Amino acid sequence: MTDKYAVIGNPIDHSKSPQIHKMFAQQTGQDISYEAIEAPLEEGGFKDKVIQLRDKGYRGCNVTVPFKFEAFKLAAVLSERAQVAQAVNTLKFDGATILGDNTDGAGLVRDIQQNLKFSLQGRDILLLGAGGAAWGVSLPLLEAEANINIFNRTTDKAQQLSHGLQVFLKRDLYTRKGLKFGLPNFVNSYAELSSKQFDFVINATSAGLTGSEIPLPPTIFAPGALAYDMMYGRETPFMKFAREHGAQVADGLGMLVEQAAESFYIWRGIRPDTAPVIAVLRTAK
Ligand code: NDP
Repeated sequence: MTDKYAVIGNPIDHSKSPQIHKMFAQQTGQDISYEAIEAPLEEGGFKDKVIQLRDKGYRGCNVTVPFKFEAFKLAAVLSERAQVAQAVNTLKFDGATILGDNTDGAGLVRDIQQNLKFSLQGRDILLLGAGGAAWGVSLPLLEAEANINIFNRTTDKAQQLSHGLQVFLKRDLYTRKGLKFGLPNFVNSYAELSSKQFDFVINATSAGLTGSEIPLPPTIFAPGALAYDMMYGRETPFMKFAREHGAQVADGLGMLVEQAAESFYIWRGIRPDTAPVIAVLRTAK
């Protein structure tokens, strides 16, 4: 029998997830269906939709803007990375139990390390932004043993993210896993950035959506640096700026496919080959 999955968001028409998961299913021979479903924005609309799907026998769903935080609250069992992210993009239904995970960070790390062939270990990262995406990727970046520095336009939020990570790491992972990562740093102002250089500058802001520039110093990129924008579909001012100042540039399409592959793995126990899927989406652009 075909196992049913979906992605829930609002709006959802733009989502590439159905196309990606259909390609994964074809490639791996898994008998699944995957559709895009819009949940109402009114209070309780998302929760009702998820419960409805679970009760109709769906096996899981992806969650996108603006419901990742609600999905976090709805899941009865949370992975460690979802606990740190305080946001969930993957739900799995195990009978009546709703399990929540966050695959965004794993997707980013795989794209950087496996697809783009940059090692993160021991490298200095500037993470721009302190919204859902930044929270989602922080722990996986630390687990890749990178040194992360967080900067956000609204500095309080960067401080909260840095503090939240520090509390979590001190409490648990840091001691238990014995990894060699340092605690995250928090950068206070654009001015503070003028004396610094980074091996990776990762744009986890939504500035690209509105075509806004981020006022970074042109010296921010260390030799051979990678500038990574989580946005995809068009060149953002951040990508243009980075290219003009000597950095290698990547968009977030690979991350999108990799986070989907991680969700597929959670649901089906099989890791699809992402390279042909990324190639199809790049040519379709
Ligand atoms: P949020 O709305 O949660 O956070 C937005 C962040 O962007 C905040 O830190 C905000 O700063 C900052 N920001 C917005 N505008 C500007 C600006 N003009 N200059 C500087 N900072 C700005 O969004 P998400 O974290 O969910 O998503 C961020 C981006 O990541 C989006 O473009 C999204 O599409 C992308 N993304 C891509 C994924 C992929 O798979 N490729 C997965 C997940 C997200 P402030 O706090 O000051 O408002």
